[in-house]
Amino acid sequence: MTVQQVLKSKGNAPVVTIKPAATVAEAVGILSSKRIGALVVSEDGKRVAGIISERDIVRELGRRGPVCLNDTVDQLMTSRVVGCTRSDRVDAVMQMMTDGRFRHMPVIEGGVMIGFISIGDVVKARLAELSMEKEALTGMIMGM
Ligand code: AMP
Repeated sequence: MTVQQVLKSKGNAPVVTIKPAATVAEAVGILSSKRIGALVVSEDGKRVAGIISERDIVRELGRRGPVCLNDTVDQLMTSRVVGCTRSDRVDAVMQMMTDGRFRHMPVIEGGVMIGFISIGDVVKARLAELSMEKEALTGMIMGM
């Protein structure tokens, strides 16, 4: 299965972004209201400047306390973002997430973000794939 198929199954939902100059408190508000774990940081909603996840915020809350909520998003975000393309295979994306120890990945083509996938999307796609493989193998063995 490819990233393109995963995006399609999600209904090509728009990616939730936040501007670099927004405050961390604003980021918390969006993460909470949208019930998501990370935001792509972007000035124009297309080019990726970074990613800020709940982990970045919790780490800073633990270190410095609630004062970090007044920081700007670009002070806490990760700027070296690992992205994937729509033709990447889901198992390769899963490997990249495991190796990099992160759970979110923007889908980028020609420098422009066209989608976003999370570890939840990837695991769901892999489980569906494995279930289909099992059905096919069972069918072959049973001569169905
Ligand atoms: P996560 O597990 O996605 O909540 O993120 C764990 C850490 O990795 C945080 O510091 C994030 O900013 C960072 N991170 C999340 N996604 C990516 C990505 N695609 N590329 C690089 N870093 C990321």
